[in-house]
Amino acid sequence: MNNEIKECCCASDFMPVEKLRELQLMRLQKIVAHAYNNVEFFRNRMNEKNLKPSDIETLADISKLPFSKKVDLRDTYPFGLCAVPMSEVVRLHASSGTTGKPIVVAYTKEDLDVWAEVMKRGLAGAGLSKNDIIQVAYGYGLFTGGLGAHCGSEALGATVVPASVGNTQRQVMLMRDFGVTGVCCTPSYFLHLIEQAAQSGIDMRELPIRVGIFGAEPWSQGMREQLEKGAGIEAFDIYGLSEIIGPGVAIECTEHSGMHVFEDHFYPEIIDPDTGEVLPDGEFGELVLTTLSKYAMPMIRYRTRDLTRIIAEPCKCGRTIRRIDRISARSDDMFIIRGVNVFPSQIESALLTVPGVTANYLIILTTENGMDNIEVDVEISQEAFSDQVKILESLQKNISKAIESVIGLRIKVKLVAPQTIARSEGKAKRVIDKRTQIG
Ligand code: ADP
Ligand code: ZN
Repeated sequence: MNNEIKECCCASDFMPVEKLRELQLMRLQKIVAHAYNNVEFFRNRMNEKNLKPSDIETLADISKLPFSKKVDLRDTYPFGLCAVPMSEVVRLHASSGTTGKPIVVAYTKEDLDVWAEVMKRGLAGAGLSKNDIIQVAYGYGLFTGGLGAHCGSEALGATVVPASVGNTQRQVMLMRDFGVTGVCCTPSYFLHLIEQAAQSGIDMRELPIRVGIFGAEPWSQGMREQLEKGAGIEAFDIYGLSEIIGPGVAIECTEHSGMHVFEDHFYPEIIDPDTGEVLPDGEFGELVLTTLSKYAMPMIRYRTRDLTRIIAEPCKCGRTIRRIDRISARSDDMFIIRGVNVFPSQIESALLTVPGVTANYLIILTTENGMDNIEVDVEISQEAFSDQVKILESLQKNISKAIESVIGLRIKVKLVAPQTIARSEGKAKRVIDKRTQIG
């Protein structure tokens, strides 16, 4: 890592670990007291456990604190968890509502500064700088993706193209005409951009884009290969959620071996989702995050429902902040078919091991004779598309086998022609659940 970058924008990423732990403890004590004193919900929850802010004497004491969940945000909708007067709140956002009614989050001016700072550190770690032109193709609005990436890019000093989502042909035109070098959007939308560019006779690999910052939805290694090869770029996984701040909670460095959590601001823990017990670094479980420096709506031990593990071993890049592994799944996305737990991400990673398959697929759940049934519709690439039944049959068999080897179930695979599955502009919808509800 170039020393200049290290000093100018991400010194906190390289802080000695003991110093980092001291800072985290100091911030934790402060935020717990702030939440206790200003939010009835947190005060009641802590009182139920006979806890006072002064009981947090070490970082390990965090495990004494009660968890918070999405339902708590819904129950206190819209501003019940606000810890500052509305006059201090300068911005509101809402989660995209992938799993139900949206929830609202609030920011003070300082909270927005923290958000821009972590995004800036993340972008810098992905090799972007003030010399880059960054197109933000996440949705602008209540969704945190657009403005989060926007403010981070501006803080970095880069030139921002606030394209938002949609109007795909124009997006491609802007990239080409402005000489865009970095793009922030969902991975599924970028795949769509590559296809649309090709349709207009533009080969993305020939454009100056060299970095893609992709997040807001799970994506597999196979998807990474399609994006990197299709556009001649380096792809970085970025993680975040509205409840904690938005994008910029964690991001890959150029080593691409997990996402560094900006743990001077977001304290990570992994718990067993069934028992709530804290698991040691390295073990897979549910990610729990505590915002250490967000004042409008502090979140204490927020259960993200995202499944991953903490990687505590030092990273080759020299950053001392710990990493989390790729989010293997969101526990809400799991479905049970014939008694087997299945995550869409497992199906994606299996599909994309088969040559000729694109990352455009749909998982369709139905009920047949009272039993749950699953079918996967898979779009094949133009090159693999053939009118020879034998070739298609063998492709179908290979996909079916690949899925079976991952989830242990033989499921129906339907090949569909290129460009037939609807493209999304934000988070891709991968599962259509047509099952009849029993009971
Ligand atoms: P919603 O819960 O409505 O989708 P958000 O827009 O805040 O609200 O999305 C946050 C969620 O998106 C995360 O909890 C996680 O499940 C998913 N997510 C965000 N970034 C990633 C990523 N890089 N990999 C996998 N999942 C991600
Ligand atoms: Zn690293």
